[in-house]
Amino acid sequence: MHKDRKGYIQVYCGNGKGKTTAALGLSLRTLLSGGSVYFAQFCKGSETAEMGLCSLFDTFVMEQYGTGKFITNNPTEEDRKQARQGFEHCKSVILSGYFDLVVLDEIILSVFYQLINVEEIISMLRSRKPWVEVILTGRKAPHELIEAADLVTEMKKVKHYFDTGVKARRGIEY
Ligand code: ATP
Ligand code: MG
Repeated sequence: MHKDRKGYIQVYCGNGKGKTTAALGLSLRTLLSGGSVYFAQFCKGSETAEMGLCSLFDTFVMEQYGTGKFITNNPTEEDRKQARQGFEHCKSVILSGYFDLVVLDEIILSVFYQLINVEEIISMLRSRKPWVEVILTGRKAPHELIEAADLVTEMKKVKHYFDTGVKARRGIEY
């Protein structure tokens, strides 16, 4: 649909709320303007409200690559396998040029835990079809990724109710 224009690389990082929310907002905007979206959630494996978009739009595909458990300091073999599978699949999606927008939600966390190499990600981004827009999210973006991106927004936490013990809420955080 949007194959006649250039796609850019966007990074949403930082410790404040809004990274996944912004990626979802942009996905909606693309869908409602007739484009297609592939939304991959790395390091996740639990049901989220946003999965409902799949039944509302046949141009929206969402897939999760994770075990459903939080990755702690020592990722398991299963975490590694999921991240690797996710990366290989996203790579084929990005190289195919089939989707206008590809979201790699929380892929930056996979890099932080050394489940995926940042150089591999950058080389994948460079080989994408020119019209594919890509969003990568996650807290601590490595400088190589920031340099490779066209747009970087850091969500800065000024205050977050998480710090007062409020857990993730359905419809607000997931
Ligand atoms: P959102 O999906 O609401 O836009 P986000 O994508 O910017 O948020 P993530 O880094 O993906 O934020 O956070 C995932 C979840 O981690 C949040 O829903 C929240 O419950 C929890 N969280 C928030 N702040 C912290 C924190 N400082 N440390 C650990 N977990 C946090
Ligand atoms: Mg998020």
